[in-house]
Amino acid sequence: MPKYQVPSRGAKIGRKGAALEVPDEPIIPFFPGDGTGPDLWRATQVVLDGAVEKAYKGKKKIAWMEVYAGLTALKHYDKDTVLPQETLDAFREYRVGLKGPLTTPAGQHKFVCLDCAAELPDRPAKCPKCGSQWITPRFRSVNVGLRQKLDLYACVRPVRWFTGVPCPVKEPGKLDIVIFRENTEDIYAGIEFEWGTPEQKKVYDFLVKDMGKKIPFPDSGIGIKPISKTGSQRLIRMAIRYAIDHKKPSVTIVHKGNIQKFTEGAFRDWGYELAKSEFRDQIVTEAELWDQHNGKMPAGKLLIKDRIADQTFQQLLLRPDEYSVLATPNLNGDYLSDAAAAQVGGLGIAPGANIGDEAAIFEATHGTAPKYTNKDMVNPGSLILSGVMMLEHLGWQAAADLVVKGLEATIQAKTVTYDLERQMPGAKKLKCSEFGAAIVKNMGGAPVAA
Ligand code: NAP
Repeated sequence: MPKYQVPSRGAKIGRKGAALEVPDEPIIPFFPGDGTGPDLWRATQVVLDGAVEKAYKGKKKIAWMEVYAGLTALKHYDKDTVLPQETLDAFREYRVGLKGPLTTPAGQHKFVCLDCAAELPDRPAKCPKCGSQWITPRFRSVNVGLRQKLDLYACVRPVRWFTGVPCPVKEPGKLDIVIFRENTEDIYAGIEFEWGTPEQKKVYDFLVKDMGKKIPFPDSGIGIKPISKTGSQRLIRMAIRYAIDHKKPSVTIVHKGNIQKFTEGAFRDWGYELAKSEFRDQIVTEAELWDQHNGKMPAGKLLIKDRIADQTFQQLLLRPDEYSVLATPNLNGDYLSDAAAAQVGGLGIAPGANIGDEAAIFEATHGTAPKYTNKDMVNPGSLILSGVMMLEHLGWQAAADLVVKGLEATIQAKTVTYDLERQMPGAKKLKCSEFGAAIVKNMGGAPVAA
């Protein structure tokens, strides 16, 4: 028997080929996360359940199932288990999940307080900060563990502007993109050798003496950047399928292939190869557009193009409406996601998902904001919009649209949490829970058909 409780109602999500088979009452595993996670979770659940109820009048419902990870897991399992196997199995078995932010101890200290996340040099009987007796040894990132162990190879980040959100550009509404960032290779592989170690010397000697490569100075840290055909093509395949399913106009492969030919350049080449071999009837490449179609896009086709990463940053600022779905290796995607979200003022409310072939986990993209723990103060927008992505993934578009409608109306009414209120003259500051309740209220009275 697992330590988490399976709901008495509801059913597992099934799968037919690549498509999900979603029952009317799917069981969805979730965990609120650490720090402000529980505040965010309460507001989010009210909004998502409210939208589903309003959209489907009781015909559909989510059967939430709380599983444990991070600091909460340490209280339910052994003292060193931050990512229980049962939790991984649940996400795999039930296929779709939602999660709040998790603490990753960043400092050099050996111990962490489970209640306030204070990092401590030794293991006191009680936490000097909050008095808790729950002190545990430092641990590695649970988020990275989840992604690696479930092979969630695509980090998906939609970026668009919500009317009324303060932002630094003149026409924020022109940016409406979805970034598919590779999640397992490139810098995420984490293959690095520290200068001064025997391992670094071995790699340095191999590269310089055996392979004849030039490294200007021997006191160099050395990193290795693996990018594979398999990893690139499964990510680009997901981006193209998404673009076709959602009737998007283009997929742009973002890379630095002018400099790194066999990693970033290969990512681009493998992308075009895949698009032509698996989606031939549905796509037109940018070269074909000019060679065969006089620059006029044939109706109903998806344009596949590529751009060099640094140029993409310029283009998203200067001609944002020419971009729709972007597929990118890990490091480019890391920078691009945050830069694009900042452009529309949405860093604090940017949603995200980590998706693989076996499971999809939707998550707030910010951290635990520990200084606001239990203050019912933070903005639940990121977790709520991640819930919108989850509803869309389930095919429950009517409920997803209601949440967006409610969120837009709430922001336009200038009733927002502290983070937006301090940037919006004349706005009224709401608590986290009040913001969630306002979104439900603003979804409108008329139920939307399923
Ligand atoms: P953070 O938790 O994202 O917080 C940094 C600042 O961002 C906050 O102080 C706050 O700014 C603002 N903020 C974050 N979430 C907000 C929200 N919901 N509403 C309004 N403002 C929000 O980053 P951090 O302090 O660097 O990291 C804290 C912990 O979270 C660390 O243990 C880190 O490892 C972890 N983390 C987890 C994830 C994840 O689970 N996916 C991601 C990133 C970080 P102001 O102070 O200006 O109001």
